[in-house]
Amino acid sequence: MPLADIRPYLEDSRRKKYALGCFNVFDTETLEGVIEAAVNKKTPVVCAIYEPQFKYSDLESFTDLIKNIASKTDVPVILHLDHATELASIIRAIKCGFTAVMFDGPVGASFEEKVEKTKKAVEIAHLAGATVEAELGYITRVGVDEKASQENIADPKLAKEFVERTGIDILAPAIGSVHGMGEQKATINLEMLRQISMSTNCYLSLHGGSGVDDSIVQQAIDLGINKASVYTRLSNRAIERVKDCLSTGKGDISVILNEVRNGFREVVEDRLEVLRSVNICNPANETCHYCTSEKYCVSKASSPLVSDSQPYIKSSAIGSMSNRTYEDVLNNVSSLIADYVKNK
Ligand SMILES: [Zn+2]
Repeated sequence: MPLADIRPYLEDSRRKKYALGCFNVFDTETLEGVIEAAVNKKTPVVCAIYEPQFKYSDLESFTDLIKNIASKTDVPVILHLDHATELASIIRAIKCGFTAVMFDGPVGASFEEKVEKTKKAVEIAHLAGATVEAELGYITRVGVDEKASQENIADPKLAKEFVERTGIDILAPAIGSVHGMGEQKATINLEMLRQISMSTNCYLSLHGGSGVDDSIVQQAIDLGINKASVYTRLSNRAIERVKDCLSTGKGDISVILNEVRNGFREVVEDRLEVLRSVNICNPANETCHYCTSEKYCVSKASSPLVSDSQPYIKSSAIGSMSNRTYEDVLNNVSSLIADYVKNK
């Protein structure tokens, strides 16, 4: 099916108390590992591309591949831009067909500056029907600033204001998790999460999921987390499998690359279980009615958010172009964005 709009699945996760799994992908092997796991677990999946990766790969070609694989896949695939710091990255991602973006804004920005920049990101992304996620507080990173994880926890008093002033769709509050942590030893402030969850109706996202104990992850889901990002555990498992392969002296590069795919698939399957994101694509589940997959859905009734063609392009962006091709539609969205940027 075409790349999916994340909103129906966020809403479903809220009703059923599970979290959508969000996993970073870099190439064919990591992408296929993640998607195979989602198919095996019959659940929607979020594939994330991290902004710094833009300089290492041809984003346009890679996203063509993702769209092609997603179109042949029977579970919804959401394409998400992870931690963008520049509006230009959001625009480039939307032109590539991303259905969800995350905007951090410039490093070290004040609350006011962050609100203003995030508002712009939301206006641009919403023109194309893409959702926007933004961080509140600051989620630290191993090897950079992990010792500051507790002092950068999100302020629940600012959550409601931040969501209302920016218009974001998903809030990623810093609650003590740390990017890049392979062992489950992060200290998570569930009380802060509870307060934030009560103060806003925004969907909530957990980052640094590799470093959070499974039982805490599930408590966080019960408190309102709808989407959880996990990467380091996937990377570590792939590295272990490659090392094992190299130590036995067996195989060539094709075998080694396959170990990367297998490592990603194994850990994603395991994490989807922890996130309770299993058997979501099930004819008994009304969420399947949002889906255009023929394999699992009993009904192909379309929702107000999703159409059979390109679910994430709003009708306002398509305008009178309904008889044109998808490329025309994207060009139209691009020109809307270009006008917007010029006039601001
Ligand atoms: Zn993150």
